[in-house]
Amino acid sequence: MAILDDLSGYEFEDLMEDVFRHLGYGNVRQSRRTADEGRDILMEEVVDGTRRAVVVECKHTATVSRPVIQKLHSAATTYDYDGPVRGMVATTGRFTAPAREYARQLGDGDGGVELLDGQDLRTIGEEIGMNLYNGRIEILCTETLQPVHPTAGRDAPVFAAVREIANLEAVTIPTPETTVSLEPMVTVRATTDATFETSVGVIHRIDEVNDLVVHADRDAPAVATGDVRDLVATPTAPRIDIEDAALEATFDGVERKRFGQTETAYKEWAIDRLRQAHTTTVHYTGGNNVDYEKTCTPTRSDISVQAIDPVYVPHVRSQLSLGEYEYEYAYYAAGPSRSTTTNDLQGCVHCETAGSSESYTYCANCGSINCDAHIETERLEGEPICLGCAVTERFALKTKYFYDETNLEAFRAEYDDMSVLEKARENVPLAVGTVLALLVVALLIASSVGAV
Ligand SMILES: [Zn+2]
Ligand SMILES: [Zn+2]
Repeated sequence: MAILDDLSGYEFEDLMEDVFRHLGYGNVRQSRRTADEGRDILMEEVVDGTRRAVVVECKHTATVSRPVIQKLHSAATTYDYDGPVRGMVATTGRFTAPAREYARQLGDGDGGVELLDGQDLRTIGEEIGMNLYNGRIEILCTETLQPVHPTAGRDAPVFAAVREIANLEAVTIPTPETTVSLEPMVTVRATTDATFETSVGVIHRIDEVNDLVVHADRDAPAVATGDVRDLVATPTAPRIDIEDAALEATFDGVERKRFGQTETAYKEWAIDRLRQAHTTTVHYTGGNNVDYEKTCTPTRSDISVQAIDPVYVPHVRSQLSLGEYEYEYAYYAAGPSRSTTTNDLQGCVHCETAGSSESYTYCANCGSINCDAHIETERLEGEPICLGCAVTERFALKTKYFYDETNLEAFRAEYDDMSVLEKARENVPLAVGTVLALLVVALLIASSVGAV
C-alpha cells in the first residue's frame, strides 16, 4: 500500500479515525496526549453491555518496538474513564518480535494492547470497501436521492416549466436532452453542550443539535443553503442505491463526482463552524455591581459529532431546443421534490428580464421566449412575433410586424386595396385623433354659423 506510506503522521491519524468509524467504533475522536509528541485516537466499544474505551496510538514508522507497547499499556491503565480501557497500536510498518510477545502477554481484555500492522490495515481497508485516493480515505457512497419524479417521469419538471408560458404547448415541444450529475453532499449532525461560568455563576448555556449540510465535491467545504439544504436535510427525502445501468438507461448522460475530503475533514470543519456560529457576547453584573462583557466560544470538546452522512444529490439538467434557441432547465432532485438552479424558460432572450414575476410569450417564428416589451402581434396571422425576428414596415404611420417578407408583401397588397377609413383603422390612435379633429372642426363651423 504505497499510498499509505506517503502520508504524513497527522494524515495517517486522520485516515485511521475514518477507518475506525467505518469499523463501527463509537465516539471516535482524536486527542493530544500531554508530554507526548503524538495524538491518540479515543473511541468506544460495547462488550456484553459494558462500554469500554479504546486508546489508539498511531505509529507512522517502519518498525514499532516493545517500549511503545509498554507506554501505551500504562497510558490505558491510567486513562481517566468511567469503565474498562484497552489499548491499540496501529502502524503502517511492522512490529518487532519482542513487541508482539509483550502484547500477547497483555492479552486482549482490559489493559490489553491490540496490534495492527500495515498488512492488517490493508486487509481492513479492503473489507470495509475503502479506497485510498490522493493519500486519503475517499468517502465511498452508494446512495443517491431519487433523481426522477416517481410518478410523472424524467422530463416532468421541464414540461411544468414550459406550461408557465401561456402560448407554448408542452405536448408540441421536442424531447429535451436530460443529463444527471450526482453531486456529493455530507450532512454532519453535531451536539453543542457548553456552559459558561464566572464568579457570579452560569452566565450562558448552549444545548443544541445542528445538522450542517455541505457541498462536498470541492476542496473547501461549502455550506448548502435554502431549498437544496432542505432537500438533503429532510429525513424522508427518498434515497435509492446507485445503479449505473438504470441511471444510464434513464438519462442521456450520467456523471458522478468525487467527494473532495475525508469524513474526518468534514467533522473538523463542522466543529470549527459551530464554534464560530455559537460564539456570543454576554453582558453580566459582577458581585461588585460592575457590568462585564464576556465572549463565550464553545471549546472543541463542547461539540460532539453524532453522525456524518454522505449522500449524492442528483443535479438534473435538461437542454431544450426550440427553433434557433437552446434553453436550460436545471434542478436538484429528491423524488417529487426539487430545487431549481437554472430556468432559461423564465427569461427574455432579448433583454435582462427574468424571474417568475414577469409574463413571457413564445415566438413560434424563431423559437424565442420574450418579455412583454419584446413581443408584438403578427399583422397577418394575429400570432405573437418577437422583435428579434420580425420584418417591419410602417403603415398609416404605425409599425407593423410580419413573420417574413412574403407576409409583408401580402399585407402591402391588402393595404393598397383598403378604403381610407380602413387604412385609418390600421392606426387606432391616429384614426381616433382624426375623428376628434373632424368633430372640433365641425363644432367650430357650427359655432361660427350660430354667431353670425
Ligand atoms: Zn425583453
Ligand atoms: Zn421571433
